[in-house]
Amino acid sequence: MDGFEDALARAGAWIEAYYREPGRFPVFSRARPGDLVRALPAEAPEAPESFAAIFADFERLIVPGLTHWNHPRFFAYFAISAAPITVIAEALAAALDVNAMLWRTSPAATELEDVTTSWLRRLLGLDDGLHGIVYDTASTGGFTALSAAREALGLEIRERGLAGRSDLPALRLYVTEHTHSHLEKAAIALGIGSANVIRVPVDAARAMRPEALAAALDADLAAGYRPLAVCATVGTTSTTACDPIPAIAAVARERRVWLHVDAAYAGPAAILPELRSLLAGTEHADSLVVNPHKWLFVPIDCSVLYVRDLPNLRRTFSLVPDYLIAPETDDVRNYNEYGLQLGRRFRALKLWFAMRHFGAEGLRARLRAHIALARDLGDRIAATADWQVLAPYPLSVVCFCYAPQRLDDAARDRANLAIVETVNATGEAFVSSTRLDGRVAIRVAIGNERTTAADVETVWRLLRDAAGAPARR
Ligand SMILES: *Cc1c(COP(=O)(O)O)cnc(C)c1O
Repeated sequence: MDGFEDALARAGAWIEAYYREPGRFPVFSRARPGDLVRALPAEAPEAPESFAAIFADFERLIVPGLTHWNHPRFFAYFAISAAPITVIAEALAAALDVNAMLWRTSPAATELEDVTTSWLRRLLGLDDGLHGIVYDTASTGGFTALSAAREALGLEIRERGLAGRSDLPALRLYVTEHTHSHLEKAAIALGIGSANVIRVPVDAARAMRPEALAAALDADLAAGYRPLAVCATVGTTSTTACDPIPAIAAVARERRVWLHVDAAYAGPAAILPELRSLLAGTEHADSLVVNPHKWLFVPIDCSVLYVRDLPNLRRTFSLVPDYLIAPETDDVRNYNEYGLQLGRRFRALKLWFAMRHFGAEGLRARLRAHIALARDLGDRIAATADWQVLAPYPLSVVCFCYAPQRLDDAARDRANLAIVETVNATGEAFVSSTRLDGRVAIRVAIGNERTTAADVETVWRLLRDAAGAPARR
C-alpha cells in the first residue's frame, strides 16, 4: 500500500488521542436507527478510494455512531476496556493474519495459547487437570462445553444424531432463572430443546439450592430422563450472585453428571487471594469459562474454556479432511479439532501482552480498585433516603432503585426506567437496567481501566439529579 507509513501514523495519532481522552465523546451514542445506512451509498465504490477519504468518513460518520466502551463512565452491562498495549497486540495479530487452525499453520500461536491459558489457570488457582482453549466468547465456550458433555454421554449422538431415534431418553440441562441465556441457546442448538432446560429453585441470595438440584435430578432420573449437565454460575449477569460450587459439584458427582461452571465475568476476581474461594469446588468441574475480554482488559473477543477431558473434546469435534492432514498430528494440538471453527484468530497474543504488561500485581490492583469503588457506591446508595440497594454487591456491580414510599410498584418501575434514560441522554454516563423479582433495577457495573472515584461520584450525582427532576418528584 502506498503511503502505509503515513496512514499508520495518522491512525496511531488518532488512537493515542482517543486513549488520552476517551471521555471526549458522548459515552452513549446519540445515533438514531438508520442514521448510518442513510449516510452511506447503496453501492460499494467502483474506483479505489484514498486512505484520507476513508479515514475522514470514519471520523465523521462512524465514530458518532459508536457507544464508547472505553469511556470511563461506561457503567452498563459489564463495563470493559481494552488496555492500549493490547491494541498494539491486535494490530500485530492482524498484520500477521495468522490462521491458527493447525499447529503447523503457526506453531507459536498454538503454543502461546497453551502458555497463556496455563498462566491464567495458575493465577486463578485452578487445578492442573484443566486445559484451556481460547474461543471468541463465553457463548461459544458454553456451546463447546455442552457439546463435549453430550459426547461424553456415550449415546452415539455424534454418529447417529438425535432425530428419529426411539432408543434415546430426553436429555436435560439444569440451570437457574439467573443463568446466562447462552446456555439455553446452546441447548436449543444441540437438539436438547428449551423445554428440557430445567430451572432449579434459588435461595434468598439468588444462588442455586443444591438440595433442590438433587431433588430435580433424582426425579428426572426416576422418570427416565438423562441429565446432560448442570450449569453453575460464579457471578450471575444481573446481580453477580454465586451458586455454591462445592455443594453443587458433590450433587453432580454422586449422579455422574457433567458440571459446567460459567465464570465469564467474575472468574478473573479469583486472581485476588481474598476472592480465591470464588472458584473453590471447580476441581470437580468438567468445564469452566472465564472471559479475559470482560475483566482482564483484553479487547473483545477473548474467552477461555477450560476442560478436564481433552481427548473427549477432540472426539466431539475432530473431523480431518484430506487437505488438512498433517504429519505431526499426534505430537501437537491442532485446535480446529477442539471446536466448531476451522479458522482461528491469534487471540492468545493480546492476552500474553496484557498479562506481561500489567503483571499479576497490576491486574490485582485494578480489580481491587473496581471492587472498592462498587462497595463505596453501594454503601452510599444504601445510606441515602428514597434509594434502595436490591442485591449484595461483593464484586463490581451494584443493583439498586429509586424507591420513595409514595410510589406504587408500577410508578416506581416507570420512574427508574426514566432515570436510566435521562442519565444516558446526557452522554456523561451510561448505565443499564435489569429486573429483580419482577421490579426494575438500575445496574452500575465498574470494570473500565480508567474509571476513577470521581467518575463514580458523577454517575451517582446524575442519577440523583434525574430522580429529582420535576416529573418524578
Ligand atoms: C457476559 C456473560 C456471558 C456471555 O459472554 P459472551 O462472551 O458475550 O458470550 C456468559 N455468562 C456470564 C455469566 C456473563 O456474565
